[in-house]
Amino acid sequence: MPLADYGKLYLSPLEPFVRSPQSVAEAIAHWREELSCGHRLRVRGSGHSLSGASLPRRGETLFLTHGLNQFEVVGADLLRVGSGAIMWDIRDFVAAHGLSLPVFNGGWAGPTLGGYVNAGGMGLRVPPTTREAAARGESNDGYASISETHGGFWAHVVALTLIDGRGELRQLTPEDSDFYWIFAAMGQFGLILDVTLRLQAIPGVANQFTVGQSGEIPITNPLNPSETNDLPDAVGIDWLYWFSAMVPIDEEDRFWALVGDWANRHSATLEPSGGWVGPSLNGEPIGFRYLVKRRAPVPPLLYPRDEDFVLMGVMALCRGIGKPEVETALVEAEQEFVSSIVDEGGRLYVQAENLSRSLDYADYYDADTWAHFCALKKKYDPQSLVNIGELQRSKETEPVTVAQIRRLAAATQRVLNT
Ligand SMILES: Cc1cc2nc3c(=O)[nH]c(=O)nc-3n(C[C@H](O)[C@H](O)[C@H](O)COP(=O)(O)OP(=O)(O)OC[C@H]3O[C@@H](n4cnc5c(N)ncnc54)[C@H](O)[C@@H]3O)c2cc1C
Repeated sequence: MPLADYGKLYLSPLEPFVRSPQSVAEAIAHWREELSCGHRLRVRGSGHSLSGASLPRRGETLFLTHGLNQFEVVGADLLRVGSGAIMWDIRDFVAAHGLSLPVFNGGWAGPTLGGYVNAGGMGLRVPPTTREAAARGESNDGYASISETHGGFWAHVVALTLIDGRGELRQLTPEDSDFYWIFAAMGQFGLILDVTLRLQAIPGVANQFTVGQSGEIPITNPLNPSETNDLPDAVGIDWLYWFSAMVPIDEEDRFWALVGDWANRHSATLEPSGGWVGPSLNGEPIGFRYLVKRRAPVPPLLYPRDEDFVLMGVMALCRGIGKPEVETALVEAEQEFVSSIVDEGGRLYVQAENLSRSLDYADYYDADTWAHFCALKKKYDPQSLVNIGELQRSKETEPVTVAQIRRLAAATQRVLNT
């Protein structure tokens, strides 16, 4: 069965060899076994990223993390959680015990804890009533998001354990110089096994955890696997995509002008949906906007300046994904978004989006950041066995596109018909 991801433009056409560890100990044993055979490894959480990053290439072993959903209470407000637990399940579980997970993803349930760390992790939740008031121009505080109050997810992690590309266990804390480089790294350094979270008290509510308590995070937000695993048929489906930019606070207006022009030019392909700020199209605001406050050092692979920044962009419906002409128009629109933001000095949420893989990361990052990343890759994964081709790109490690498979099928059909 071919495997896809949320973006639905790439697939892994061959049955990979799969490892589905059900505990951290099992994950370590499997990982080391695979490394000792010199196998290349690919990690997949829920497959909610868009760029094929979680899709195994030919000959790679696929590690599925959903079985890593165990927890242990390691301090009055500290919870160690396996990297395969779903962010929204963790949020609901701790809330049921009287504590709050300060930052989690918006939208709906999907991202795992490990996937969220590897994306960077910002909390993009604005209560619908507040958004609606902002969209009507009645409220100016419609911008308040979780990350405006609590910063990025990285500010609430006190430790993480990973097994690297050498098979070595590494426990990293914010005191380690490499710690913030693990966030937004797209799994380049190894398999994240577990993450220790600092939770917050809810005023007036008793903390019902006891130190030493352990178990599994219950599933309260069941996923719909077809969202990530299936491809649309030839009739096509209407699918939601995100186009995000990260920009300095004082440059926001300039970027809104760019984004507004872009949305206008591509309005036949992309219908902005659920926006509450920014320029309007057909009388509706097109954009989302979240202030991300610096509550801890900003991960260098996410955003280059260690300060508050704005995450802004457009969520848009593309009608007819599965039809070649629609996908071509989508890719054109996405590439234009990427180049217009990057040319003007903005940053992108490449870890989650990067739909057409058009960026050259060696150019995208400044020279020091790129050199530092390459040095870390060498340190943790000297043989380049883990999740290769995501930041250090090469033609050989690109994922197969659905368009390529379609062309191949059409050519085969032509031969059979002659
Ligand atoms: C509905 C929806 C809402 C979203 N909302 C937000 C939001 O509000 N804020 C935000 O910041 N992001 C958001 N995102 C983006 C999302 O957080 C990222 O795409 C995230 O990476 C998805 O997690 P996943 O478990 O599906 O990872 P996958 O797509 O499976 O993997 C992403 C990358 O991480 C690597 N990886 C995954 N798990 C591990 C691990 N344990 N160890 C090592 N590498 C690993 C994979 O190899 C891959 O390179 C949203 C995405 C969706 C679809």
